[in-house]
Amino acid sequence: MPDRVDPDAHGGSDRQTLETYRAKRDFTVTPEPAGAEKGRKEEGSRRFVVQRHRARRLHYDFRLEADGVLLSWAVPKGPTLDPSVRSLAVQVEDHPIEYRDFEGVIPGGQYGAGDVIVWDRGTWELDKGADPMQAMADGELHFDLKGEKLRGRFILVRTRRTSSRQVQWLMLHKHDDEARPGWDPELHPRSVKSGRTNEEVAAEPEAMWRSDLPPAEAEKRLPGRALPTPGRARAPRKSSPRRRKPKASKWQAPTASELDALDALAEKGSWELQGRRLELTNLDKVLFPGRGDEEPVTKRELIRHYVTVSPFILPYLADRPMNMHRFPNGVDHPGFWHKQLPSYAPDWISRWTNPEAKRGETDLYPVIDSAPALAWMANYGAVELHAWTSSLADVHEPTWAYIDIDPGPETSFSDVVLLARLFGAGLDHLGVLGLPKLTGSRGIHIWIHVEAGYTFEQTRNWVHQLSRAVGATVPELVSWRWEKQGRQGRARLDYTQNARHKTLVAPYSVRAGPGAPVSVPIEWEELDDPELTSGRFTVRSLPERLARVGDPLARLLETPQRLPDL
Ligand code: MN
Repeated sequence: MPDRVDPDAHGGSDRQTLETYRAKRDFTVTPEPAGAEKGRKEEGSRRFVVQRHRARRLHYDFRLEADGVLLSWAVPKGPTLDPSVRSLAVQVEDHPIEYRDFEGVIPGGQYGAGDVIVWDRGTWELDKGADPMQAMADGELHFDLKGEKLRGRFILVRTRRTSSRQVQWLMLHKHDDEARPGWDPELHPRSVKSGRTNEEVAAEPEAMWRSDLPPAEAEKRLPGRALPTPGRARAPRKSSPRRRKPKASKWQAPTASELDALDALAEKGSWELQGRRLELTNLDKVLFPGRGDEEPVTKRELIRHYVTVSPFILPYLADRPMNMHRFPNGVDHPGFWHKQLPSYAPDWISRWTNPEAKRGETDLYPVIDSAPALAWMANYGAVELHAWTSSLADVHEPTWAYIDIDPGPETSFSDVVLLARLFGAGLDHLGVLGLPKLTGSRGIHIWIHVEAGYTFEQTRNWVHQLSRAVGATVPELVSWRWEKQGRQGRARLDYTQNARHKTLVAPYSVRAGPGAPVSVPIEWEELDDPELTSGRFTVRSLPERLARVGDPLARLLETPQRLPDL
């Protein structure tokens, strides 16, 4: 399917005029795009992709999503931000939407045989009110791109000259704020999907495109590096049992000599951890003020924490997208949420592309599945790690139901503990296993591992009903008002956290507070400890606890549950 007619690039013989490609569209392209694609189309958001394609000749395939297909041009020298350059763009056959995120190899003997990377992608917007198909027919498109590399205003214009039946266009960038004189696409060779180059993809491809098959079946995952891309290859719902969570022992903590090497580094340097080479920076930078009389906590200690707890934290991170709460200048400065994996992240950081991301939304998330990945995140200033409630097996299905006891200004920690105990009694009565987790700030979460097959609406409704029942027993402590002013300082039982895009801080994640407190799962009996506080454990006191009691929540990983009717 790719580049069946990509004349400049492949010297294909069945070159087509605009008219014949239009006539062919109906049978070269799936008439009914897959469900998710259809939904996106109806919402009017439009994506673009540029694939760097080493076929018989290197070229860049520039593709604009419109009308359920990818309008496509082969650009031999690549699109550029340099406003002085006019790039030849040879119009080629529309491509099926399914090809949009393809990165891998096209086998020899097929049109376009070679390797393909997703060189850039994002959203495109035509001049307001303009219809893409009319603009195509008129031979002139003025549009804005919001990609990772290509940004700003571009023009594609069909030229009168057509040699050997090629439909030629010129592509240029306007003189605007995004223009970059001298910008050369070949100096930006890496995939925005995987961070890899064409050469690296060719050496170890994740996928193959079989253009002899229907578009929905054309992409074949190859064994090896493959990380599931659930939007495309979702596990069958009923026929396969849920992937069991690995036990914590699957992951190894760093060795003593690896930790010694971290301690021995100067302010910055290279650190070898479990076969990965990390470039660490600003290691002695203070990220957290000390608690009381204690010394402040440095970035080196943050990194040390995350790699040391890796066997305990990774079971909650390894198969799900993650949001980072970053404080690169320390927790005394405002932090910010960061979801998109930066394009300069090393290519061994696992990642997940959200095929349903709308315009302007994050579409490439980190997936943290190793101690070196944790070290990289900490070095990047990611203080708090918040994982999705659903896993990559199906991002629409929660694996945890959460109870979030969110204290108000007037709520004491003993009130929080009382509410947690009431929930504990309720769960006990229902025969449901759940465990409290100190948030590390002021509150307590209660985590319940649920079976596959629930929707977020179902877990949210279940937690809502239970929360109403608990709240009714202590109305003086709980407010159901959403706006803060209306709550009169009382706690909120925030069942709305049970939603696909909401995340709660992961067990053993650090929190942005003095002394680097940690969110820690506890046993119900520990609620009786008069010295308990939400921020009781810090990166310094946690190792002793883990050595003594391990992770109480780990046993819930083995027992996904059905939620009883309330
Ligand atoms: Mn091509």
